[in-house]
Amino acid sequence: MTIRYILYSLGLAWTCLCCRNEAAEKTPTVLGADTVTTEVKSGPLASTITFPKPYIATAFDFPVGKPNAKGYYNAQGFGLNYHLGDDWNAVTGGNSDLGDPIYSIANGQVNFAEDIGAGWGKVVQVLHQMPDGEQYESLYAHCDSILVQTGDWVKRGQQIATIGNADGQYYAHLHLEIRDSIGMPIGGGYAADTSGYLDPTRFIRTHRVISN
Ligand SMILES: [Zn+2]
Repeated sequence: MTIRYILYSLGLAWTCLCCRNEAAEKTPTVLGADTVTTEVKSGPLASTITFPKPYIATAFDFPVGKPNAKGYYNAQGFGLNYHLGDDWNAVTGGNSDLGDPIYSIANGQVNFAEDIGAGWGKVVQVLHQMPDGEQYESLYAHCDSILVQTGDWVKRGQQIATIGNADGQYYAHLHLEIRDSIGMPIGGGYAADTSGYLDPTRFIRTHRVISN
C-alpha cells in the first residue's frame, strides 16, 4: 500500500478537504474546433485539462465483450447488498474469464492506474468529458494486469486492463463503477450512501450515443 493510496483513501491527495465541495463544479470552455478545456478541481489530475476533441466522450459501451457485453453477465448489480458498481463475469463461470480484456467504456483520460492492494488490487480509473461539459469517472477494479498509465488518452473500446481476481481474493471478475463526483476517494465498493455513484448499466444503456 503506497502513501499515495493512503492519502487518496483519506481524500487528502491533490486537494485539501475544504476544497472538496468544489469537485462537482464543471465549467468547460470551448476554445475551438479541436480542443475543449475543462477544470478538474479534485482528484489525481486536478488542474485545467485540455481535452483533444477526439477524446471527448460521445458514446459509451460495456467494458467486457465489447460493445454489448456478449458472453458476460452482471453477477451483482448496483445497489444489491449496497454494491456501488457492477460485477462482470463471463457466462462460463469461475475463473474462466481471468485475463480477458477490459475495455474503456468511452473516450477519456486515465487519471488513476495503480495496484493498491487491500480488497481492490489493480485499479484503473478514466475521466470522461462529455460534450455538454459534464464529467464522469469510470473505475475498473481487481485487474490482473494494467495496460495504461495515468495521463494516457484512451478511446472507447480500447483495451486498458485484463480481468483479475485481486491476487486470488475472489473468482475473477471486473468491478466497474461510474461516478459523477470527480476525485472522490477510492472508497469501499459498498455503501448505503450512493452519492457520487451511478448505476453503471443504466448509465451505459442511456448513453450509448450522445448527441450534442
Ligand atoms: Zn463489485
